[in-house]
Amino acid sequence: MNYEFLVVGQGITGSIVALQLKKSLKKFKLIEGGNPNSSSKVATGIVHPISLKRCNLSWRGKEFYDFSDAFYKKINTESSIELYKSYKLLRIFASFEEQNNWIGKTNNEIYKNILSLSNKKVDNVQNMFGSGVVELCSRLSVNEFLDFVSSSLLKSNMLKKDLFKAENLKLKNNRFHYKSDIYSKVIMCDGVNALKNPMFNYLPIIPNKGELLKVSSNILPPQIINCGIFSLPETKNIFTVGSTYSNEDQKNNVTIGAKEYLMKKLNKVIEIDGIDIIDQKFGFRPTSFDRKPLIGEHPIIKNLFTVNGMGSKAILMAPLLVRELLNYIYLKKPLDPMVNINRFTKKINNENIDYAKSLEFSI
Ligand SMILES: Cc1cc2nc3c(=O)[nH]c(=O)nc-3n(C[C@H](O)[C@H](O)[C@H](O)COP(=O)(O)OP(=O)(O)OC[C@H]3O[C@@H](n4cnc5c(N)ncnc54)[C@H](O)[C@@H]3O)c2cc1C
Repeated sequence: MNYEFLVVGQGITGSIVALQLKKSLKKFKLIEGGNPNSSSKVATGIVHPISLKRCNLSWRGKEFYDFSDAFYKKINTESSIELYKSYKLLRIFASFEEQNNWIGKTNNEIYKNILSLSNKKVDNVQNMFGSGVVELCSRLSVNEFLDFVSSSLLKSNMLKKDLFKAENLKLKNNRFHYKSDIYSKVIMCDGVNALKNPMFNYLPIIPNKGELLKVSSNILPPQIINCGIFSLPETKNIFTVGSTYSNEDQKNNVTIGAKEYLMKKLNKVIEIDGIDIIDQKFGFRPTSFDRKPLIGEHPIIKNLFTVNGMGSKAILMAPLLVRELLNYIYLKKPLDPMVNINRFTKKINNENIDYAKSLEFSI
């Protein structure tokens, strides 16, 4: 069968690619290998345009938020499920310095309708330096979102549950051949697994391990609080507490260190005695050296693309960045140089060149 696109990976980015291709009535197939610990499977789903540590708008933050907010609201309508929901995020200040910084921002026109101050006392939470509110904040229920995308693709026969193997891809007359099908273009959305295949493993992807806890409590507040880590209400008395960040630990397991770190941080603002840990999870965020996404076309293999390096902000950034990639493909609109993978072309190595050559071999 002939298709316009082969998409590899149905995490958050692959799902967003699929939804946008489907909307544009493109013929495509998505292959997903089913990694149960993919970053997307454990992601909490919090979306806002603020870098909380510095209390700044993140890079292109408002632009990304406005686009993704409209994107997910449409998915809510199409799915008739509330996959995406507005929240207010309460930042518990750790010092007067942080409080002053926040107050300064709330007086700035740019942060109007984004940040505010909160004078309210929150039950059980110690906020001796006060707290601020991120007004522009939402949550995507990521696993439900992934399930919605996979079931709608399965219904239209566009999803194949299988592990894609780069060595089985071949190129003939500018068309990609994979197993018995033929594709004009390939988009790799394989997260940290990209490091294991010779297409894009020259890109400086750094797997950043994140761990989080599912806890039961009747004292945690019914809103998102952030005190360096966050607590997010899931269902009655059940909360997600996260996350850790580690570039060093690359092991596929949860750790006691992460559990202790999260509980200790939480203990700074709330009494943790009545909080029971029910579950602990880990995943690897695909981050990059310069902390910017990795989007674009392979420097040697034409019509082979990647969407990767979303770090901890896939939900915020992916809808607009995928749109920009499709505009690059169809309208030749240049990609944002900050995300374009051509900034790393010099890193391409012999393995990648040999792989590119091997694609041209007869089928
Ligand atoms: C603890 C934690 C909390 C997080 N919280 C948030 C949050 O609140 N908000 C936010 O925006 N981000 C959050 N993130 C980050 C977010 O999870 C990632 O940015 C995002 O999931 C990356 O998505 P992706 O689709 O690029 O990659 P992945 O999620 O890694 O998806 C890649 C997919 O490709 C598939 N795949 C890989 N190789 C192959 C192959 N060869 N063949 C077939 N399939 C393949 C995998 O099975 C997987 O499904 C969090 C991450 C962690 C670890």
